Amino acid sequence: MNILHISAECFPVAKVGGLADVVGALPKYQKELDTTSNVVMPYYNNKFTENNSFEEVYENYIALGNEYYNFKVLKLKDEQLGFDLFCVDIPDLLYKNYVYSNDDTARFLAFQIATLDWFLTFEKKPDIIHTHDHHTGLIPFMMSHSYKYEALKNIPTVLTIHNAQYQGWFPHEKVNLIPPFNFDKVGLLDWKGTINPLAAAIKCAWKVTTVSPSYMEELKLSANGLENLLNHENAKCVGILNGIDWNVWNPKTDERLIKNYTTSNVVSGKSTNKEWLCKEFSLDIKKPLFAFIGRLVGEKGADLFPQIFKVALAEKKISILLLGSGHKETESALTAMPKENFNTFIGYDEKLAHIIYAGADFLLMPSRVEPCGLNQMYSLRYGTVPVVNAIGGLKDTIIDIDNENGFGIIHHGVSVEKVTKAIKKATTFYNEKGFHENLKKMMSIDNSWGNSAQEYVNLYKSLKN
Ligand code: ADP
Repeated sequence: MNILHISAECFPVAKVGGLADVVGALPKYQKELDTTSNVVMPYYNNKFTENNSFEEVYENYIALGNEYYNFKVLKLKDEQLGFDLFCVDIPDLLYKNYVYSNDDTARFLAFQIATLDWFLTFEKKPDIIHTHDHHTGLIPFMMSHSYKYEALKNIPTVLTIHNAQYQGWFPHEKVNLIPPFNFDKVGLLDWKGTINPLAAAIKCAWKVTTVSPSYMEELKLSANGLENLLNHENAKCVGILNGIDWNVWNPKTDERLIKNYTTSNVVSGKSTNKEWLCKEFSLDIKKPLFAFIGRLVGEKGADLFPQIFKVALAEKKISILLLGSGHKETESALTAMPKENFNTFIGYDEKLAHIIYAGADFLLMPSRVEPCGLNQMYSLRYGTVPVVNAIGGLKDTIIDIDNENGFGIIHHGVSVEKVTKAIKKATTFYNEKGFHENLKKMMSIDNSWGNSAQEYVNLYKSLKN
């Protein structure tokens, strides 16, 4: 079975968040299950494309409304990723030093059209086309209803929703950007009066998945306007929990760490990484270190951080280190906070993220929305206790220490009071006898892709029968 993933992000080529991690890992694990699984993504102007060689495999031009754009499909020469990587190069639109911006309608529509134009030339068509989020959400519609893609009509499509908050809306006046289609079908593009690529994908894809079972159920109640649609399409919807890339995220071999470790030397291994962090960020190594890594947005509860941290730090019993960027107001409020037992790195830094997963004692995730969440799984793998709100994938992966099999700390709901109470519970746990035993327990939990990759393959097979 030949599967093509189409995505705006893919680790390590271009990463903004979890989407990249999933698209960079899932194909590798699907390959182990006797499938051929490869990735198509835009060609951006970044370090990865600068430092790697590509060969041209196709060249043509596309029409986007009345504009014409030349494009090339470039294949990564090296086989380092564990799958074939194809990048669509549209210099005027995609070759930028960012992934997302405010002209994304044209950029990602051009990407999708160029990708499908290229597929038309394949002698042997893919067996499954797997799209991810709204950036590739018009593909199922175009394959079913744009005249020029008639030859792709019978290829099953799968949409995975990594985040339903963002839907790629654009006004009907821009409908002529989409290659001509049977206009009776225009309603499939529409949701509440605008063209909504995510809604169109939910309507037109053969199967719709979310990145955790709980997130699928939550979306039926709250999905930024798409609740009724998801309820209506319930029969083709399923939640499949993400895994993590067991080889990239491995404290035994992770080259980004200050010191590697396994379950047998986890205490000293973590301590060396913590020591480096404390030195670098002027923190007290004796205090339990709480960390946050991620986007500073409301979904992650980040607007409450200044208040939460102020209350949590008042007793001077803990340290907090934050790595992230996002809303400017939150960034400024955090930067202005006194640097006593507290520090921030405002920005994106993959290496530092790895060292924090290794060196922190606790990882804070007071998310209001968390489709799957990868950070809590990385933190378990590195022996760091996740302190999480019971939502989405966090609910599906973390069990509170008050339960027999528990290993993490859960709060129900996001408020200054609830999160600081959870931090207090964590601080008490830090001084308890079971804390060190728990490090090993967390590290032994298997959240690798194995089972989930198989679930996807089963889903594809059900579409081919
Ligand atoms: P998101 O909602 O942002 O996609 P996920 O939990 O699915 O959240 O994935 C987040 C991924 O991005 C993780 O690999 C996390 O380590 C990484 N990440 C987020 N922010 C940063 C940052 N500022 N620096 C380094 N890595 C980051």
